[in-house]
Amino acid sequence: MLIAGNWKMNTDVPEGRTLAQVIADRLSTQPQAFDDVDFLVCPPFVHLPAVRDALDDAPVAVGAQDMHAQDEGAYTGDVSAPMLTSIGCDYVILGHSERRKYYDETDAAVNAKVKQAKRHGLIPIVCVGETLEQRQAGNAEAVVRAQVDGALADVSVGESGALVVAYEPVWAIGTGESAAPEQAQEMHGLLRRDLAERFGASVADGVPLLYGGSMKPHNAYGLLSQPDIDGGLIGSASLAADSFLGIAEKAMDVLEEETT
Ligand code: PEP
Repeated sequence: MLIAGNWKMNTDVPEGRTLAQVIADRLSTQPQAFDDVDFLVCPPFVHLPAVRDALDDAPVAVGAQDMHAQDEGAYTGDVSAPMLTSIGCDYVILGHSERRKYYDETDAAVNAKVKQAKRHGLIPIVCVGETLEQRQAGNAEAVVRAQVDGALADVSVGESGALVVAYEPVWAIGTGESAAPEQAQEMHGLLRRDLAERFGASVADGVPLLYGGSMKPHNAYGLLSQPDIDGGLIGSASLAADSFLGIAEKAMDVLEEETT
């Protein structure tokens, strides 16, 4: 189970460092409590070195929220994959709906970034999800399929996986209204089948499928207990250690239940 925090453009660097330190401290005082949970935080770019240092030996990976598709060059304001790997990033979120909406990021652009991430050993977290209008028009599945098709065109994924897909219905992001567990499972099942057709069943089974969209401690259990939901991409609830780790506790409850 992967519990990932997307801090978006929140906290200044000292606040981000403190949040990371609190998470690290909580994990070190309760080492067994989160045994089977993989943690990831994706702070703003400028926080990355401080957050990496604050997490020190804590079992928490660090990722970025976006990156450029080129290694280097005259791209003012951008950040490259080699820059991210040089400071210890393992993951990068790509194609988040806010990037698609505010920066007109296309599936082709996401595809170029996915390939670039893989060339540099970064694990891409490819975000897909429909808007409310698209869902109401009955097009949710077609939209998500097309986004996956575009983002993963000519991408190969070996047995080691090294790919994460996040289903984030746009209408659920930052609204407090998460998808119902069954509704989310329906889309995750479709994603799993799509990945199996693309890469084979054993690779598809190893690709973590995250749900994102107003996941909180109170609704996490229902979502995370769905068979094809392997974790969460968490926005606002990842900005406080209590709610972030509260969701991880629910993930542990689900995992414990599965083994009994
Ligand atoms: C997100 O933007 O990735 C997200 C899931 O946000 P929130 O949890 O705040 O809805």
